[in-house]
Order: sequence, then C-alpha cells, then structure tokens
Amino acid sequence: MRPEVLFPLYAPVITLPGVGPRLGKHFERLAGPFVVDLLWHLPTGIIDRRLSPKVREACAGTIATLTVQVDGHLPGHGKRPYRVRCRDDTGFLHLIFFHAKADYLARQLPLGATRIVSGRVEHFNNEIQITHPDYILSPEEVSQLKPIEPVYKLTAGLTLRMVQKAVTAALGRTGDLPEWLDPEFRRRRGWSDWHAALLQAHAPDNEDALDPSSPARQRLAYDELLANQTAIALVRANNRRLSGRRIAGDGRLRRSTLEALPFRLTGSQLQALAEIDADMAAPARMMRLLQGDVGSGKTVVALLAMLNAVECGGQAVLMAPTEILCRQHLATIEALAVPSGVAVSILTGREKGRTRQDNLDRLASGAAQLVIGTHALFQRDIVFHDLVLAVIDEQHRFGVEQRMALSAKGAAVDILVMTATPIPRTLLLTAYGDLDASLLREKPAGRRSIATRTIPLSRLDEVVAAAERALARGMKIYWICPLVDESELVDLADAKARYAQLSALFGSRVGLVHGRMKGPEKDRVMAAFTEGDVDLLVATTVVEVGVDVGKATIMVIEHAERFGLAQLHQLRGRVGRGDTASSCLLLYATPLAETAKARLSIIRESDDGFRIAEEDLRLRGGGELLGTRQSGMPELRLADLAWHQDLLAIAQDDARLILNRDPELKSGRGKALRTLLYLFQRDAAVRFVRAG
Ligand code: ADP
Ligand code: MG
Repeated sequence: MRPEVLFPLYAPVITLPGVGPRLGKHFERLAGPFVVDLLWHLPTGIIDRRLSPKVREACAGTIATLTVQVDGHLPGHGKRPYRVRCRDDTGFLHLIFFHAKADYLARQLPLGATRIVSGRVEHFNNEIQITHPDYILSPEEVSQLKPIEPVYKLTAGLTLRMVQKAVTAALGRTGDLPEWLDPEFRRRRGWSDWHAALLQAHAPDNEDALDPSSPARQRLAYDELLANQTAIALVRANNRRLSGRRIAGDGRLRRSTLEALPFRLTGSQLQALAEIDADMAAPARMMRLLQGDVGSGKTVVALLAMLNAVECGGQAVLMAPTEILCRQHLATIEALAVPSGVAVSILTGREKGRTRQDNLDRLASGAAQLVIGTHALFQRDIVFHDLVLAVIDEQHRFGVEQRMALSAKGAAVDILVMTATPIPRTLLLTAYGDLDASLLREKPAGRRSIATRTIPLSRLDEVVAAAERALARGMKIYWICPLVDESELVDLADAKARYAQLSALFGSRVGLVHGRMKGPEKDRVMAAFTEGDVDLLVATTVVEVGVDVGKATIMVIEHAERFGLAQLHQLRGRVGRGDTASSCLLLYATPLAETAKARLSIIRESDDGFRIAEEDLRLRGGGELLGTRQSGMPELRLADLAWHQDLLAIAQDDARLILNRDPELKSGRGKALRTLLYLFQRDAAVRFVRAG
C-alpha cells in the first residue's frame, strides 16, 4: 500500500534519536505522532547569530556571537548567580548562570581557554553580560553553531534546541521523491524539487524565507493542496460511479406537510428542493451539500426530501451531532409529519434497554419510516429495512472520511449533508469538493435583523440591569458563558458562578445547561426554557448548533473576544427567530487584541453569514472552520488559505486534468501522484483510483 520510500517518515517520532517516550508525548502534542509531522512543523522565525562584535561593541539587546578567553570564575552564593568573567582585547564579558552546577561550568569554561559564546547581550551595572548563553563552544566545535537558526513553535516540556534537533533528525530521514508536479509548471514557478524545498523551508536564511509566498513554502503548500484536490477528485469520481436508485415520490406526504406549514417556502428553499429531487430521481447516488446560514430553513427542506423517500416506500434518517438537536428535530418533524401518517422514531445514546431494542426492531422491520439520531449511532452496525436517504445535519464533525464510510454501508443511500456555517468558496473546495452544493441564500421573510452591541465586561452590572428589565417585559434570554479553554471543567466553573449570581437575583426564572449534564436533565432545562418558566438560560456552548427557541430575543455572550467569528455568528443566530426585535450583547475583556477587535467589529456590522465566513478565512486562514483532525475536516498543515487561494484553484484544475488523462494513475507522473497522496495520508482516496 504505502510506498516503501515513505516508511521512515511514517515511523513514530520516538524512533528519532533523543526522543524517548516522555518527549515523544510532547512531540505528539506539538506536531503529531509521526516523523512526517515534524517535517510539516515549519519554522515561525529565525535567530540570526551572524553578528560577531568585539566585547566593547556588543550592543545591549542584540543576539551576538563573541570569541573570548575565560578569565575567572566567581561562584554564586545565596541568590547571587554564578559569574564567569571572559575577555577579549577590548573588554570584559560576564556570563551569568542561575542555579549553576560549578563543576559543569568549570569543565565548559576552563580558565584561559578560548570559547565562542552566543546569546543575547545585556548591559547591567556598567558591565556587558550574557545570561545563560545559548552556545558555549570550543574553536573545534564551532561548526555546531548555525549562523541563522530556525525558530519553531514549542509546547510545554520542549525547548527550542530539542525541537531543532528532532526536526533535523526527521529531515535526515528524507530523500528525493519522484516528481509529481508538471515539469513545465514547476519551471515557470521557479520551484525546487520537493526535497530541496523542504530543506529550504527549514533553513530560512532571512525573514522573507518565512513568508508564505516564498518559493519553498509555496511549493510545499501546493503539494498539500494538490494531494487534497486529487483525493477529492478521486472520491468525487467514485461517487459518480456508485449506482443509486431512482427515487421520485408521488408528492402525497409532501403536499399535506406543506399545507400544514404556517409559511411558504422561500425561492432558495424551492430551488434547493428541486436540485435534491433531481438528484434523487437520477440513477446515480446523491452526494449533496445543503448550505445555509442559521435560520435559513434547512430543516424543512430536509424533511421534504425525506418524505420523498418515504413516499417511495423507503426509510430516511436525519443525523445530528448532539442529543439536544435530535430532540429538537424530533419535535419539529413529529409535529409536521405524524399528522400525515408518517412513523417517526428516535435513536440516541439516551434510549436504553427495551425502548432501544424496540426502536432498533422498528428500523429493521421498516415500521419506522423517518429516524432521527446522533451521528455516533449510525457509525455502528444498525440495520435498516430499506434506507434510501441519509441527511447529516451540522456537518462540522463529519468529514469526507466518514462520508465515505457511510456510503460504503448503505446499498444505494442518497446523502444530503447540511451545514449551518456558510463556507467560503475556497474552503468548499478543500473540504466538500466531493459534493454538489445547494445554497440557501435567501432568508425567510419577516426576519428582523439583530441589534448587536459590544460592551466591556467592566459594565457587567449594566447588562444585568438590562436583563432584569427584559425579564420584566416577559422576554427570554440566552446567557453564554466564556469559553475559557478546551477544558470543560473550567468552563463549567464560570457558568456555575454566573448561574449562582443570576439566580440569586432572578430566582427560579434562571436555568443552567452545560455539556456535562445528563441527558434527561438537559432536556428538562431546555424544555423549561422553550416553553416553561425558565426565562434566562445560562449555558456553555452546548446550545451553539441549531437549537431553536423562537421566543428567545436576547443573546448575551461573555468573553466574546475568545470566540471565533463563525461561532459568534452561530450563537447570535439563536435569537431573532421570532417576529420580535432581538439583540445580541457581546461582552469583552480589555485590552482587546487586534484580531479580536476586528472580529467583534465584523460581527457587529454584518449578519451575512457568507460575508462573515469570508472575513473569518481572511483573519485566521480558515483555522476555525477547518478545525482539527477530530472535527473531520481535512487539516491543512502547509497551505494557508488566506495566502494560497490562487494555488488552490490551480491545484483543482491540475488534479482534474491529470485524472482525466490518466484515471488509473499509471503514467510516471500518475505514480508519483500516488506517492504524494500517501505522503499526505490520503490513503483512503488511493483506493478509489480506477483499476485498469
Ligand atoms: P436552519 O436549520 O437553517 O438554521 P431552521 O430550519 O431551523 O433553520 O429554520 C429556522 C426557523 O425558520 C424555523 O422555526 C422554521 O420553521 C422557520 N422557517 C423555515 N422556512 C421558513 C420560511 N420559508 N418562511 C418562514 N419561516 C421559515
Ligand atoms: Mg438547523
């Protein structure tokens, strides 16, 4: 499978000299589990050690490399550091060591010896000194000192020197690979071969070499994008070959559901539905993305598509990432579909024992026609009587790999993926290029815009007072607590403290919901907020996706500066769903960093999800949207879409062209492309290369 030349790169990091199990863990956290991950860990800066002044000319604050004689040792005592006095013919240089081992220093810096020392120069009490020099070398060892050193991002437990050494060792495992670029294209761009580009990228000789537009970095970014686009083109071509079924219902269930709706579909919804219908009616398998901003009305479109499947005697599932969302979809869909005689069922981790078994039986017998459940469940072996359509909601956590797994499972299941985050065009290519896309651009009529204000946290009292007035007027309020860090426990502490404070003021009208709560408890609180007597809901970000409480009109977000743009937009979309004017209060801590300031002002000015998504991409290179590997999104390590958009477009054309010409990837370049796919761990896609 994986070509042998790549074996050394896919060895675990602990196979590198000097990296044991303990450091291995740190390296894994820093870059990833394999040697190759260190190759993708590109420098973020340089240290220039070329300055080599005489002692008297050494300027404070500069990094300098000086040649000196060791003149005397002054051992420290108490809090005083150990000092080693050195000299050249212009003056004295003191080397300062805290918590020093005297015998070690005596060996490193013997009296009278010549030493090359390098580090940051300080002037202190009229003396010229370097505290803890980075290098202390004898003249014979001087080759160890690189005039310009790459600087890498670190993590706790790793020093720069350790990372440099490991990267150097990782680079030592690399060699030439067959060229997968078109030679003419490479020549025009003035790019080196892969190996040379990699070595150059890790040996920047000036600041410009760190720039994403430097030739070496462009080449590496292009390689990554080409792997991504080739993989996507392969999956797409494979989808096209998958046989599907012609599904075209008689419209009977749809009609009665549409009649029950208190509104008319928007033009966008009708258009999307027509595209879905055409796909389902065609003999090939549907692989479609339904994109629309929060509140654009995707659920109803999905329901109508599912009814189409049911009309033909088949089953349809709707998968959502969280329990809360499943319950909500169940409520909406039951209300609309059950009166028409459709059997709706739910399947989440919550159902246990008999109930669960009953539900499973109903799936297997076909008694359940519409099924709503969490993603996780459908990755296990669940038997359907005749599954025709799978709708995947809030797609973030469901990547191309999972889609492939899912389509491999059903006989000929049509797939509709829904995402609530508008995705910039470029990201659409890298993350969903295997899907056809439908867009809901139009918002349902009668939506009011949401007045958005930014307020420093120091004015929390005023916000609490405003909340009190709003509650007095019978409004419902979301109060989102800070995203402190990845640790849910810390988030929870804050949410609980705020809950305690607000309940002291407003009593039982305040509820709390968070990710660590047990399902039924969560449901109870959500239900109390939706239609009961809880009017202010303190929440961690569990309410982020999809939850729909029509009566909520105020959204308070604490520490808004810690949230990404897409997330803020999502959260804000939780209000403004009814016909009353809504508002969103973004509380921030000062001082605000530049990008945080930019984010908050974008979100204040715009409520166009597509524009926000484009800005997000510009500000953070799509980091938030692309997310991590766990989120199922392809992770780009070398390409930065804020910089390399043009390369992406070229890579897309390039991938399509070569697969047209050489669908079996058996030409010289085709074979090299296979290596490229393995290099970037697109192994699953290689399986789709058409066999000859
Ligand atoms: P999304 O999933 O895209 O965020 P939903 O499907 O949850 O949006 O719809 C949001 C709200 O808008 C729901 O209350 C839904 O009933 C309502 N809605 C959907 N389509 C329309 C429409 N065409 N006109 C008015 N309201 C609509
Ligand atoms: Mg939704």
